[in-house]
Amino acid sequence: MENNFDVVIIGGGPAGLNAALVLGRSRKNVIVIDDVQPRNRVTKETHGFLTRDGVSLDEFRRIAIEQISSYPSVKFSEETVETITGTDGQFTIKTSNGTVYQSKKIVFTVGKKDKPLDIEGLAAVYGKSAFVCTYCDAWELRNQPLVIIVKNAKSILGAKMLSGWSNQLTVCTDGPNEWTDEQREDLKQHNIDAFDSPIDRIESIEGMVQQIILKDGTTIPCKGIFFAPKLVSGSNLPRELGCEINDAGSVVVDTFGKTNVPGIYSAGDVASELYQAVTAASMGALAAMSINSELQLEAWENLSEFNLNKNREQPLSQTT
Ligand SMILES: Cc1cc2nc3c(=O)[nH]c(=O)nc-3n(C[C@H](O)[C@H](O)[C@H](O)COP(=O)(O)OP(=O)(O)OC[C@H]3O[C@@H](n4cnc5c(N)ncnc54)[C@H](O)[C@@H]3O)c2cc1C
Repeated sequence: MENNFDVVIIGGGPAGLNAALVLGRSRKNVIVIDDVQPRNRVTKETHGFLTRDGVSLDEFRRIAIEQISSYPSVKFSEETVETITGTDGQFTIKTSNGTVYQSKKIVFTVGKKDKPLDIEGLAAVYGKSAFVCTYCDAWELRNQPLVIIVKNAKSILGAKMLSGWSNQLTVCTDGPNEWTDEQREDLKQHNIDAFDSPIDRIESIEGMVQQIILKDGTTIPCKGIFFAPKLVSGSNLPRELGCEINDAGSVVVDTFGKTNVPGIYSAGDVASELYQAVTAASMGALAAMSINSELQLEAWENLSEFNLNKNREQPLSQTT
């Protein structure tokens, strides 16, 4: 049957695509269903992925699909998975296009999504001059005046880390916070000002931040912003199917992407809090290896049982 697969991979970011590559090379029938809304689509470039440092998201995806397409058992479809029913070995997947797929195993590589950003002007600069990950984007803003927006006292670590890229740092807590006097003194000793007033707005020109205006009237000129967004799972489907979810909203998996639900695997941002393309890809590869082993051993067992039954059914005259 055309829509019958060994594995349906839901989500075609680095995690899902690397899972598809490994499963394609393992000769498994796979489809990657992706509605192409990755979290980093706001950015122009992806950094820190060996051999792909600085490429655009479109180029990353184009090369990945071109390479995976060498393995004829892998298919791609651009649509949204809406419902999944069934159990290990016989899942039924329905999509927004009304297509129905059958699959033995499922991999959720659905990523995470930002909750709406509630600072005026932040959406205009997000991905252009406001970022969430220093390892991804701080190099491009090195030695520039930067603002880090952190509410949580533990986030002082973020300011300490960012000081490795620039010594012109300002901290904004955007209102009430948990900072102690010791922490403020610590920042002061490193020439970092900390402001408590809520942020009124971020002013920018063509996505490039110019200044942050606080409600008390303070103006902070800067060239870049780092902040920690609130994240939610890219899809509710893992939860609906009974996958265990941790306090950070991530699907709980073992090292090889196995969830607590038989036949369901997960990898990438949705199953971790590491938030790096290369880590997501590596999780996808590990999950694929584990799924392939499971499928292979199941096929081996089924064949043994089939041969045993066949021999039992054959009349004595034919077996001697
Ligand atoms: C602003 C920004 C900049 C970043 N820059 C970098 C960087 O430079 N370097 C780096 O290593 N990392 C960077 N990251 C992090 C990186 O984007 C993620 O770690 C990576 O994309 C995670 O890959 P993933 O495959 O887990 O999920 P994603 O890439 O988010 O892919 C998930 C896919 O699943 C799809 N999907 C979800 N639900 C469904 C459904 N029901 N049906 C079909 N499809 C579905 C989504 O549309 C999406 O296409 C950045 C993140 C942000 C926010």
